[in-house]
Amino acid sequence: MADSKTIAAISTPNAVGGISVLRISGPEAIAAADRVFRPVSGKPLSSHKGYTAAYGTVFDGEEALDDVVATVFRGPKSYTGEDVVEISCHGGLYVTRRILMVIIKQGVSLAGPGEFTKRAFLNGKMSLTQAEGVADLIMASGQQGLRSARGAMQGALYRKIRDCTDRLLTVSGHIAAYMDYPEEEIDPVESNEIRDALADVKAQLDGLLANFDQGKMIREGVETVILGKPNVGKSTLMNLLAGTKKSIVTDIPGTTRDVVEETVTLDGLVLRLADTAGIRETEDFVEKAGVELALQRLDTAQLVLAVFDSSSPLSQEDKDLIQRLEGLPCVAVCNKSDLDQQLDMEYLRAHFPHIVEISARENQGLSELSREVMDVLSLTGTDGSGPMLANLRQFECAQRASNLLGETQATLVGGYTLDAVDVSLESVISVLLELTGERVTDAVVDQVFSHFCVGK
Ligand code: GDP
Repeated sequence: MADSKTIAAISTPNAVGGISVLRISGPEAIAAADRVFRPVSGKPLSSHKGYTAAYGTVFDGEEALDDVVATVFRGPKSYTGEDVVEISCHGGLYVTRRILMVIIKQGVSLAGPGEFTKRAFLNGKMSLTQAEGVADLIMASGQQGLRSARGAMQGALYRKIRDCTDRLLTVSGHIAAYMDYPEEEIDPVESNEIRDALADVKAQLDGLLANFDQGKMIREGVETVILGKPNVGKSTLMNLLAGTKKSIVTDIPGTTRDVVEETVTLDGLVLRLADTAGIRETEDFVEKAGVELALQRLDTAQLVLAVFDSSSPLSQEDKDLIQRLEGLPCVAVCNKSDLDQQLDMEYLRAHFPHIVEISARENQGLSELSREVMDVLSLTGTDGSGPMLANLRQFECAQRASNLLGETQATLVGGYTLDAVDVSLESVISVLLELTGERVTDAVVDQVFSHFCVGK
């Protein structure tokens, strides 16, 4: 069970807005709210059923602070599993803080980061991976990230890990029963049964581990570099993706001087872009700085969009660029497809497995571009909602469990006793329970929730 202290916090951002929401959770939540809130109906909140709202005024002594709506949730049917009151007041910074202060004066404690969700976890309302999904949902900046966070919140990863755990528990239970009650007529444990279960679970975990980078791109966006010599249409492409004109587009080669950071979405996937100065060798210091920045970013880029001008033949500069891009996750973007085609497509095809023809100016070819991008990132067919490891904690647990499973397999193949196999299995199960939060130390739980916002 969670701490029995009653806690409160402002759940909305620390900013002026239409409405602010304060949340109170714990055994004294309703009583504390009743001491500061005078409902128009005259019916105290303590007489309200769960999921009901009351309109009234919050007072600090005899000073009326604000007219608000107070919503009552009764545990266990609330977000935290405890009694909860949510107060929606006018969204001013001062008024919201005054209301928080008057609630705190009632003997209520200030909530720490993520403390409401932590209580939901401790009260069994959600697994640790689901709670982590809540944090990811709040941070999601694109459709794919949103889907993946919702998948986690709805328990996609939890269920998968739970299935793995159950499978291993069944085997472990069978081994234990067989060893502990030899006189009972328990079927002997077939090593095939153990071997298959270990292999299946290991394959599931290894699949999750292999997709970790894809999940990260879906959640956090893809570090993308747009490269190409001046005037091929990089800024036009970027503006098209962004939907707004952020870079300066001009006919004079080399006018996009420095790296302009921008986040855009392509088919729901967030691309963290940098438009750059042309890659052309130049004496112009400012432009050169931009080029160098772009080239530096190539080392860490998860995606490179190499832009060429279809209306002119490949130049030596283009060919030099192509050489530098060898082996990188790159899509060759042949822009200006609305003009006469002059590009040596054979040459490009020999160097790029992923090529697309677009007209950034005429907004043509974006869906083909998106298809190639998804393909080069191995995201084709991923809608983000399936089970995925969402952070390093989960990754590290899955990695540990997979390694330990490898050891269990070796124990089995090595002809050790079933006892030894069972001990090894137990250690795998323990790590999987740590992943879902079913058997986890307070330090890990505190660490997870320390990344949350106050009020969540
Ligand atoms: P950058 O130097 O690579 O960033 O190129 P810009 O985006 O500044 O574009 C250079 C010129 O090419 C501008 O006059 C654009 O309007 C033009 N341009 C860009 N994309 C297209 C396109 O798809 N078709 C045609 N015909 N012109 C384009």
